[in-house]
Amino acid sequence: MASDRPRSEVLPTGAGLSSGEAARRLAADGPNRLPAGERSPVLLLLLREMVHFFALLLWAAAGLALLAGMPQLSVAIVVVVLFNGAFAFVQEYRADQASRRLRELIPADVTVRRDGHRMVVRAADLVRGDVVLLEAGDRISADLELAEVHALAVNESTLTGESVPVRHREQATVFAGTFVVEGQAEAVVVATGAGTRLAAIATLTRAATRPPSPLARRLSKVIKVVAGMALGVGGVFFVLTQLLGMAPADGFLLALGVTVALVPEGLLPTVTLSLARAARLMASRKALVRHLEAVETLGSATFICTDKTGTLTRNEMTVVEIWTPAGPLDLGSPARAAEIMRSAVLCSTGRLVPADGGHRGVGDPMEVALHALALSAGAREDAAVTRRYPFDPVRRRSSAVAGGRLHLKGAPDAVLPLCEQAPGASRALAEMSARGLRVLAVACRDDPSEGAAEEIERGLTLLGLVGLEDPPREGVAEAIATCRHAGIKLAMITGDHPGTARAIAEQVGLLGPDPLVLTGRELPGDDESLGALLDRDGAVIARVTPEDKLRIARALRSRGHVVAMTGDGVNDGPALREADIGIAMGASGTDVAREAADLVLLDDHFATIVTAVELGRATYANIRRFLTYHLTDNVAELTPFLVWALSGGTIPLALTVLQVLALDIGTDLLPALALGAEPANPRTMRGPARTGALLDRRLLFRVFGVLGPAEAAVEMAAFATVLLLGGWTLGVTPAPALLAAASGTAFAAVVLGQFANAFACRSETRWAGRLPWRGNPLLLWAVATEAGMLLVFLGFPPLATLLGGAFPPPVGWALAASAIPAVIGVDAAYKAVRARGPFRGAPPPQKGI
Ligand code: ADP
Ligand code: MG
Repeated sequence: MASDRPRSEVLPTGAGLSSGEAARRLAADGPNRLPAGERSPVLLLLLREMVHFFALLLWAAAGLALLAGMPQLSVAIVVVVLFNGAFAFVQEYRADQASRRLRELIPADVTVRRDGHRMVVRAADLVRGDVVLLEAGDRISADLELAEVHALAVNESTLTGESVPVRHREQATVFAGTFVVEGQAEAVVVATGAGTRLAAIATLTRAATRPPSPLARRLSKVIKVVAGMALGVGGVFFVLTQLLGMAPADGFLLALGVTVALVPEGLLPTVTLSLARAARLMASRKALVRHLEAVETLGSATFICTDKTGTLTRNEMTVVEIWTPAGPLDLGSPARAAEIMRSAVLCSTGRLVPADGGHRGVGDPMEVALHALALSAGAREDAAVTRRYPFDPVRRRSSAVAGGRLHLKGAPDAVLPLCEQAPGASRALAEMSARGLRVLAVACRDDPSEGAAEEIERGLTLLGLVGLEDPPREGVAEAIATCRHAGIKLAMITGDHPGTARAIAEQVGLLGPDPLVLTGRELPGDDESLGALLDRDGAVIARVTPEDKLRIARALRSRGHVVAMTGDGVNDGPALREADIGIAMGASGTDVAREAADLVLLDDHFATIVTAVELGRATYANIRRFLTYHLTDNVAELTPFLVWALSGGTIPLALTVLQVLALDIGTDLLPALALGAEPANPRTMRGPARTGALLDRRLLFRVFGVLGPAEAAVEMAAFATVLLLGGWTLGVTPAPALLAAASGTAFAAVVLGQFANAFACRSETRWAGRLPWRGNPLLLWAVATEAGMLLVFLGFPPLATLLGGAFPPPVGWALAASAIPAVIGVDAAYKAVRARGPFRGAPPPQKGI
């Protein structure tokens, strides 16, 4: 078969370009891609990281320090700003690169005719003169002139903002970036890449930004609260120093130290980077997020609405049964199926085409299966199609006029009522669908009139019912069991017959213990009872329309669920946008759905959704891990200032401001990043999602009631012991050398405490000794580097002098090292108490930020 269309059909566009000519034009004109966006110059982006709210605060501090005659401090602050800015910039830049690459991975294929064959090419390889075959759901990838049109409607909202689809006739131009929402057409490429109208518009509107996501909002709230606290505490300190009769310059220095100590500068970029990392991991597991925040939303999913065909099943269909009004057909002698298959194929466009040696399906897999049987039945496509009424999910049928006859196929309940008589059909249908077969009714009508589909699709003669088998995918049952463990509810939402849907749901273990199988038409009319009805695990909703899907997403969301919803059709866009996580199919779905989705499954597999949820949960846990880690350090940094103030200055300051900065931007950074890379563990998918607050009571208690005090206690005890052993008594100003040695000891205690803390933070429930200690190799590198930095900060005299701490004496090291067992031990005790206490098991979502 040289062409998938009958030869008698005269095509206005002929055989299309030859491959040779297409290659020549591609080389001459370049690929069909939008010119790379004018990205802001790197320098400008870098600069932006130096002038946000915190940075400005720090610049002001540096200026004040300079005026107050403290040039080293001023320089140190400038270094902090520059270092932090550069760090944030690198992370943002990497995250941005990652999301760009993700977008490029989303498949963009186009069906064209070249050398007289229908074939699929990458959108980037389209050239002027190519013949493009358009179908409902396709994204238009170049500017095209329409040559042959069947009921075509195009959504041009991306270009015009007008959401009502536009109907076009032959010779009209349709533009790159718009979508076919109805019908079919053949068209010729008139402009590609930079020559398209989209390219012209894109350069104008590239600046458009998304509103901040819930995660971004929550984080910036965390940071604002902490920063406000830092400023407040700093202010109180300044007042205190003045009351204690300190020189204003020294008082300012202290207040500044406190403020800087508490500001979590490195937090935002660390979050962005861990999201980008997760997105990269997901991509390698065939789940593409279209923006980084979707990673976190996925982790908080509580309800997954999945379709059946292709997601739970393989979407590899085979005809296994045919029933005709004269009785069942024996498929052992397929020639008897010739008549019914001829009609079925005439109203289809999916075809089995020869491909190097074997055969390959092009188009809808169900139609490919019909074509495969038609070929072995010897059915001849001996009439030219003069009109097509393509499939749409509301009509649930497709038809075509060929050889003076209307040929029609579709969902039986959308076809049988249109047939003159069909005795026995309902019984046959019920039996076939109860066995999990997808059933199609095929019918025809002679001498159809001209007109719309509704007018001529009536008075039909039923040719028969075709039963197709589409077995469940491997791994689906396991993934469903994982969801159950993870407290995620599931619903199957399908356009198929309720009997078929139920049978498949049973096979994969989705159907709940108290089975609910409904059709879209039986759903309650008001959203409240709809939500109440569906808020259960394992419901099956069949024969749904895209509007039903939209309502289901909305009803479940209003019951507080974080809803993930799959969709593949042209009309699924609104439901995908309404859901918290819209999921589109990369292999089989339409481009419209992909554009509306937050997540694209490259392999269409249900298990991939579950993998993505798991990675999302792991990432959320990681953000809490390094938040705990950072904040604990803040407690240890703040304590010396508190002790000094509360003792009315009789206990000297254990840390200098510069030492605090060295902790924040030196030793703390890498372990925090490494905690952001902690892999998912078996408990990630046990129990319900921990959504919502990042800074909840539990985290705050662990930081301010457990880890922070332990670290600070060792720090202050080590500091005081070194002082006392050196002959210091309360109220006396210690000799500078003694103070430096004690201060170096305190510094070492904090770094070593953080060293242990990094391991404690790897889990919220299990003590460090129970974690596979090589489970996060990055963390081992990070703490090794941390230890190296500690030695340099204390052992390299110029640096030690600048920071204001000397290399501790042996007893100092011993005391500082006790921070390790202290932090690990206190953390272990806390976790043991919790495990026994009333909060055992997965904690419910808590209030907080
Ligand atoms: P699903 O959720 O199983 O993918 P669809 O919305 O794609 O369901 O299809 C709904 C029903 O419409 C199917 O059960 C089938 O009977 C019918 N149908 C699907 N595709 C076609 C087609 N190309 N032509 C005619 N009827 C179709
Ligand atoms: Mg479908």
